[in-house]
Amino acid sequence: MSDKREDYISWDEYFMAVAKLAGMRSKDPNSQVGCCIVSADNKILSMGYNGFPRGCSDDSFPWARENPDPLKTKYVYVTHSELNAILNYRGGSLEGSKLYVSLFPCNECAKAIIQAGIRTVIYDDDKYDKTPSVMASKMMFQAAGVEFRHYKRSNRKLVITV
Ligand SMILES: [Zn+2]
Repeated sequence: MSDKREDYISWDEYFMAVAKLAGMRSKDPNSQVGCCIVSADNKILSMGYNGFPRGCSDDSFPWARENPDPLKTKYVYVTHSELNAILNYRGGSLEGSKLYVSLFPCNECAKAIIQAGIRTVIYDDDKYDKTPSVMASKMMFQAAGVEFRHYKRSNRKLVITV
């Protein structure tokens, strides 16, 4: 009879929690998205969050959503969590891996996910599901054979004191 702990976290809880933890690094005042890429045998390969490219300071580039001058909005500069996680990986191929993300990927990240060979997307929030961007993502995932499934929240509270 084993006396192992029974309340350990599941793989899904673990990787979604890591994705959300990565999102807490974001400097974006309105949106914090995190991503965690995992091998088919459950090893963490990479993580990412939404931010500006290396060298583009959070103190000098804008985080604004609206401005008559598009160069004064975040959209032209920000790199999404999924693309950051893909580009952060320097260990070789992501072929056959799984991607956990706190928000359904936009169409630009969907293209990168497909081209990187990621085969499964596990997402939490899908609040932009009626937008052309997310609708395009789903069409591309289906065409490319990338499986996507909604993360089933356990609603377990994980408390970590740092
Ligand atoms: Zn994106």
